[in-house]
Formats: sequence, C-alpha cells, structure tokens
Amino acid sequence: MTTPTPRDTFLAHARRLLMERSTPGRIGASIPDLDVPPQEPPPAHLVRDDLPLPEVSEGEVVRYFSTLSQMNFSMDTHFYPLGSCTMKYNPKVNEEGASLPGFAGLHPLQPEETAQGALKLMWRLQTYLCEVTGMAGCSLAPLAGAHGELAGVLMIRAYHLSRGEGHRKVMLIPDSAHGTNPASAAMAGFRVVSIPSDKEGNTDLSALREACGPDLAGFMITLPSTLGLFDRHIVEVCEMVHRAGGLVYGDGANMNALLGRVKIGHLGFDVCHLNLHKTFSTPHGGGGPGAGPVCVGERLLPFLPTPVVRRQVIDGKEVFTLARPPQSIGRMGAFHGNFGVLVRAYAYIRALGAPGLRQVSQDAVLAGNYILARLQDLYHLPYPRRCMHEVVLSARRQRARGVKALDIAKRLLDFGIHPPTMYFPLIVDEALMIEPTETEGKETLDYFIEAMRQIAREAEETPEVLRSAPHFTPVGRLDEARAARQPDLRWKPMPSGGVAPGG
Ligand SMILES: *Cc1c(COP(=O)(O)O)cnc(C)c1O
Repeated sequence: MTTPTPRDTFLAHARRLLMERSTPGRIGASIPDLDVPPQEPPPAHLVRDDLPLPEVSEGEVVRYFSTLSQMNFSMDTHFYPLGSCTMKYNPKVNEEGASLPGFAGLHPLQPEETAQGALKLMWRLQTYLCEVTGMAGCSLAPLAGAHGELAGVLMIRAYHLSRGEGHRKVMLIPDSAHGTNPASAAMAGFRVVSIPSDKEGNTDLSALREACGPDLAGFMITLPSTLGLFDRHIVEVCEMVHRAGGLVYGDGANMNALLGRVKIGHLGFDVCHLNLHKTFSTPHGGGGPGAGPVCVGERLLPFLPTPVVRRQVIDGKEVFTLARPPQSIGRMGAFHGNFGVLVRAYAYIRALGAPGLRQVSQDAVLAGNYILARLQDLYHLPYPRRCMHEVVLSARRQRARGVKALDIAKRLLDFGIHPPTMYFPLIVDEALMIEPTETEGKETLDYFIEAMRQIAREAEETPEVLRSAPHFTPVGRLDEARAARQPDLRWKPMPSGGVAPGG
C-alpha cells in the first residue's frame, strides 16, 4: 500500500467533514434568557414539524463552510484566465466604500434632497462612463450586460418608431458574437441576421454591404471582437450601417483593451453597454448583482432608460435629481439600479484616475500578447495577428492526438488554474479563449504558460493523462449539464446510518 500524501489526508478529512454530521441534541448557539414576555406560538396549522435541521456545534458549521470554500476556485485563491469574462480582481477598498453607512443604509424611497451624496456619485459615474466611451449620455439602470443590451436595442427600436420607420426590423450580428447579443435583439422583436467574419477575423464587408437593406434597424458588434481582435474596418462598418439608415450597437462588456485609448463614440457607435463587473472591478459571478450601464450618442439621448441623474446649479449650489428622459424606453428594474455595485465601480475609477485607466489597457493588451507569443509554437493560432486583451487559441493540433480542448481545460485544474473559456467563439474549432487581464503579474502568466507547455508535451507523450484529468481536485469530471441544472446545494437528512454526499 502506498503511504497517503498530506493532500490525500486533507481530502479524506474534508470528505469526512462534509458527511452527515448531525448528532441528536448537539447545538451551535446559546440562546439568552427571555427579556420580553413570552408570546403564543403561531396556530398549529402554520407550524410544521417536517423541517429537520442538522444538529451541529458552531465550530463544525464554521469548518464545514470554510472547507467547502477551500475546495472551490475563487478570484482570491486562483488565477482565472476565463475569456470574454474579465473576472479580474475586486479591490477590498471598494467594499469599504460600498458599506459606508451613508450608502449602505439608504432607502430607495428616501426624498432626493436627503440622498444628494449618492445621487452625486451616480451623476459623476455617468459622466466618467461618457468620457470613457465618447458618448453624450448614460443611464446606470441596467442590472447586467445582457440587460444593457436589451436596453440598447429597445432604444434603437424606439428611435426608428419615433421616425415612422417601424418597418426596420433586421438586426445584423457578426458570427463571433456573444450569445446574449442575438438573444437580446430577438427579445426586442428584431429579426437577427448573422454576418460572417473574414479570414482576418474582421467583419466581412461585402456580406455586410449586401445585408444593409431598407429593413435594416442596426448592427450589433463587439469591439474588440470575441476573437480578441480589433476590427480594422470598424469606421467603414459604422459608415455603411449609417448610410443604410441603421444604428450601430457596441457590446462594450470588456473594455479593458480600449480604456483611455479609443472612445467608441468617436468611431461611429450610437449606443453601447459596459459591464462594470468585467471592466470596472466589481464582483462577478455566483449570481451576485452586476451592472450594465448604457451610453448613447446625441440621437438616442431622449430614449435612455429611467432614471438618469441630472445636475443643476441653483443659487450657486449643485442639486441632483432623478429624471425621466422625454421619450424614455422606461424602467429596466426597480429603483436606481444596483447602487452598491455603482459605488464600487466609482471607487475603482477614482482610485486609478485617468492615467491608471490608460495603464489598464496597456497592461491588458501586453498580457494577452505575451501569452500569444509564448504559446503560438505549440498551439494553433487561428488568426495569426496581434491580439487585444484576450487571445483565442485552438487545440486543433492536440485534437489530432485525441486530446480535446475540454481535456486541456480539465488538466489546468491540476495546476491550480481555472480553465479558460472553451468552444467559444463558435467559429473556432476546439477554441481556448484566454483572457489574462491587466492585474496579473508576469510570474502568474509564466506559471500559466509553463502549465500550457507541459500540457502540450503531455498531449504528445501521455495523452491518457489529459483524457482522465483532473487528477488532484476533490471531484473528477462532472456531468456539467446536470451539475448546472440539478445542483445539490441543500442539506438533507440521510436515512439513519447513511452518509450524505458532499452537499
Ligand atoms: C459577458 C458578456 C456579455 C453579457 O454580460 P452579462 O453581465 O453576463 O449579462 C455580453 N457580451 C459580451 C462580449 C460579454 O463578454
């Protein structure tokens, strides 16, 4: 028998911790004596006795959750090169700002004159985002990137309707687009037509020209594209769409490559959204709140979602109010958007300042190209040109040895690295979409590159190691569809003597 490694021992211990821990009569809290008159319990028909709870000590509960957290991947424990996602880092100082009592204790129905500080922060954030995008106006209302897209395409629809051009029903979308783009356009009632990319990964201009008919409503494009490339024809693309009477939507979920360098409003875009949870350091994932503000050029200003914060100077004093633009598409949700998220993004922008934001794009693009340069001898590069903040590689060569992009992603877990995005964009075979982000140091990038190089060697020499990876994680390959659709997240009492699987 082989001696267990410390890691095996830890995993066995962790598994024991996650097993059925309930011991009748054990308790994790001391309840103080009543210092108010005892109350009658609710009527018997409202009381249930089929709600068994685990009986455990406080220490066991703390260890249970801490152990679970250690078995997981997180921003604070692992490198996350997930593409088109920019999970990046969440500065702790942002959390301090968001939890200041004056912000955290605000009530959304409070009179505006008692919330001037919060409104001022929102107004300033609107102004900064207009500056970053070169746009004329901004609403912070949308609660996610896809929600911002919906707001944007609804504005495009309202614009055409206001001009008596309701027949404009076609939304053109490149074949490299994020799936939310066609979904948002379809939800807003548009007919989606896909536009191919050319050999270099740019918009295919002749296909676009052909598709620009009298029923054109607009073109929705991501810049840089999800191939990690800056579309070299972008100005021509915007002009072509405008000549046909359409508007140009910019998916600005990931603006890390452009901050402080390119204002997409100046390129000809009419509307865009920004993901604060991708570009501006607010927490992402886990179903937590996000924010997808929309920015627009002059033509769409009257249609912005409600509310927009307005600033006036009355008797030499700044006054901030919530306004409804004249032809507003209406509300995207309750109240003012995800205010706590807005505070975090504001804190980030203020901490970096203009030179810091410019440095973001420099470092993000440098990191992407460093990885490209050091892996292109071993992995196929479908579009052999410089990338922006992310690089899309293909595992085509490894596939010839029977190793898929999925196997490579799973093997990275053994190195303590979260997998990159796989099989997206759909137009790249065996795609591995790697986004290192601006906040990782060279040592981390080198570690990732060494892991990818070792994996490429393994694909040649010992492909079975990859096909059965991961080997060092608490669980191996899951049925990912079932894990997402039927997650086992709730403690359930086991039949006596049974052992609950880690959940
Ligand atoms: C993430 C992303 C979106 C969607 O943003 P959500 O906040 O997840 O709704 C849209 N487009 C692109 C390019 C993205 O990367």
